[in-house]
Amino acid sequence: MNLNPSNVSSCVKNVAIFEAVQIFSNIYILSNVLSKMPPRDTQKRVWRLPIVFLIGYHLLLAITLPWYLSTRTPSLTLLLLSLALTSLVMLSVTLGAHRLYAHKSFELSKRWIHYPLVWFNTLGAQGSIIEWASDHRHHHKSVDTDEDPYSIKDGFWHAHFLWLFKKRRGTDLRITKDLYADPLLRWQFKRYDLFFFFTTVLTTGILAWITKDLFGAIVFGFLGRIFIAHNCTFFINSAAHYWGEKTFSKEHSAVNNWFLAWITFGEGYHNYHHAFPNDYRNGMRWWQYDPTKWAIWMLAKLKLAKDLKIVSEAEIQDRIQREQNNLSIVNHKY
Ligand SMILES: [Zn+2]
Ligand SMILES: [Zn+2]
Repeated sequence: MNLNPSNVSSCVKNVAIFEAVQIFSNIYILSNVLSKMPPRDTQKRVWRLPIVFLIGYHLLLAITLPWYLSTRTPSLTLLLLSLALTSLVMLSVTLGAHRLYAHKSFELSKRWIHYPLVWFNTLGAQGSIIEWASDHRHHHKSVDTDEDPYSIKDGFWHAHFLWLFKKRRGTDLRITKDLYADPLLRWQFKRYDLFFFFTTVLTTGILAWITKDLFGAIVFGFLGRIFIAHNCTFFINSAAHYWGEKTFSKEHSAVNNWFLAWITFGEGYHNYHHAFPNDYRNGMRWWQYDPTKWAIWMLAKLKLAKDLKIVSEAEIQDRIQREQNNLSIVNHKY
């Protein structure tokens, strides 16, 4: 047998290529199998949000904001970009996690829109969309009971943020099966911490690069943005179940409050929303401030959204009439 060195080296090269292809294909098959497996322990009682993170970013903001403002002045570009980022994160919660994913009140026509939506949603530090939708669907299903994760019956501050400090049942994959079937949402759910770190570092880095102000990007584009977006979202669970009118249903604590609509991207019309959870609008009149509704409508006009669910005027009037006549109405479906 001729053991020519060039033949040996070519043989070794072919074996190496074959082995590499085999290893990569095995890794691909394994990751595919793992990603389709339901995660373990999702029904175990767990801490909702890392408490260290929640307390930590408040403390950091309390220290860095006065420090920054006493040593320099933020540029207009930094303030405007931080505001735009906060708005996009808020929309990714109200339009994305809430009306699109949790309630399925409309559909996106193009797959690619899900990607920026999930990106900005991850930046919001409110947990994955599947986790968020699990809590929210339980909230609608069992509002004002012990099964309601952020029940107002346990007090205003409990509904606002104290519920996050309680050890509660984990994500319910039985009522979020539809979302778990989506590979992108499943991936965000399983790798949330990693994805949050990655999106935050990259987005804050881009803001720092544009504004040439790393300290400002951290204070306004990261800490300040999370503080505002968190509290605006938290007000929907607390104040929107506390101060306002019950025009459409007195069966639960949800209220309509126009002022709250201004700071929550339209989610303040919460009594209407609990009465008709599948309507893509929360402010059902055209003049009611609901930028989330307008954004969905715009997406539909651009052929990027479809199947916008809407409750008929006759049904709305009927509900108002029945409510005025004090008839018992139960509508807890999500
Ligand atoms: Zn509610
Ligand atoms: Zn809802």
